[in-house]
Amino acid sequence: MSEPGKEFAAIVLDCHDHGEADQIITFYCRDIGRMTGIAKGAKRSQKRFVNKLELFSFLSIRYTEPRRGNMVFIVEAELFESFIRLRQSMSLYVAATVIRELTLVATRDLDGDNGFFSLLHWGLQSLETGRPAMTVLALFQIKFFEQIGYRPNLSSCLRCNQPFGAIRDYGFDSRAGSIVCRYCQTERGQAPVLPLSQGTIKILASAQNQPLNRLHRLHLSGSSLHEALSLLYHYGRHLLQREICSLKLLSDAHWRGR
Ligand SMILES: [Zn+2]
Repeated sequence: MSEPGKEFAAIVLDCHDHGEADQIITFYCRDIGRMTGIAKGAKRSQKRFVNKLELFSFLSIRYTEPRRGNMVFIVEAELFESFIRLRQSMSLYVAATVIRELTLVATRDLDGDNGFFSLLHWGLQSLETGRPAMTVLALFQIKFFEQIGYRPNLSSCLRCNQPFGAIRDYGFDSRAGSIVCRYCQTERGQAPVLPLSQGTIKILASAQNQPLNRLHRLHLSGSSLHEALSLLYHYGRHLLQREICSLKLLSDAHWRGR
């Protein structure tokens, strides 16, 4: 007879203690989306859970549905990847927290999106395997906005619709999420734009058009990285209507160090 409950691949987004022995865990699950469950007795050293229900862990969970309420009961967990480096280095931890915080802000319970699951896994794995953290965060965000339905427009000017490349200089209107050509920037009454070079636009547009398994070919550094992080930060703050605290912390530190 098979074990009771359902089984899904999941990434731990949040965990906290509940009472003496239990833990409450929020996951992002393949097929299901975000979900919160209680692991009874997880704080006692039990074979079922020990060292598994940690922040950022990628695992398979088995759970049963509650009779009432919406918190499932986590029966068992099997670890696929622990992403242990993300919990051992402060800078990696903060970078992974940006990914975690964006995911918690932008997703709803039980609204499954396997593209989003893959992106989340890609982000954590890229940090774990030592790719430069700020580049990973820039590439993660450009994909993230697309995944939640707000792909920044990098292919034509917001105001005159001329395709990118027709004119030399561009900026980015973070309220509209679009590039604006030099001529349209000088129109009266228009919102100010962030500076954005052609090279940065090309890299970010390339990231939009590449599958996740090819993103490691893209390199952002120096002023390109700075421009990309700045536009993504301002666009995200406008779109999500809130500050992503971990991103602000990391960006401030990055820009101070330049
Ligand atoms: Zn224009």
